[in-house]
Amino acid sequence: MNLIIKRCPTCGSDQIKKVCRDWTGNYKGQSYVVPDLTFYECPVCEERVFEREALSKIQAHSPAFAKRQRRVKKIKAAQTAVAPRAIPHA
Ligand SMILES: [Zn+2]
Repeated sequence: MNLIIKRCPTCGSDQIKKVCRDWTGNYKGQSYVVPDLTFYECPVCEERVFEREALSKIQAHSPAFAKRQRRVKKIKAAQTAVAPRAIPHA
C-alpha cells in the first residue's frame, strides 16, 4: 500500500519527490543511520514525508527501539543454545 504524494503537505509545492538514500536520524542527541531509505522530500521547504514502510525501517534502526529489539535477539539466542541440551544423550 503506497501512497502517492504529489504536493508537499507543508508548503503545497509540487516539487516534492521520492528519494532513496541513507537517512540520518537523531534520537536524544544520538544520531543513527538508516541505509537506503525511501521517502518524499520537498526541495522548497525541506519537508520530509515517510510512508509506513519507511517509518518502520526508521524504527528498526532508531535507538528508541533498540532496547526491545536487543531483548528479542537475546531470547532467540538463548533458545538456540538450550535446545541441543534438551535432547538427552544426543
Ligand atoms: Zn514543501
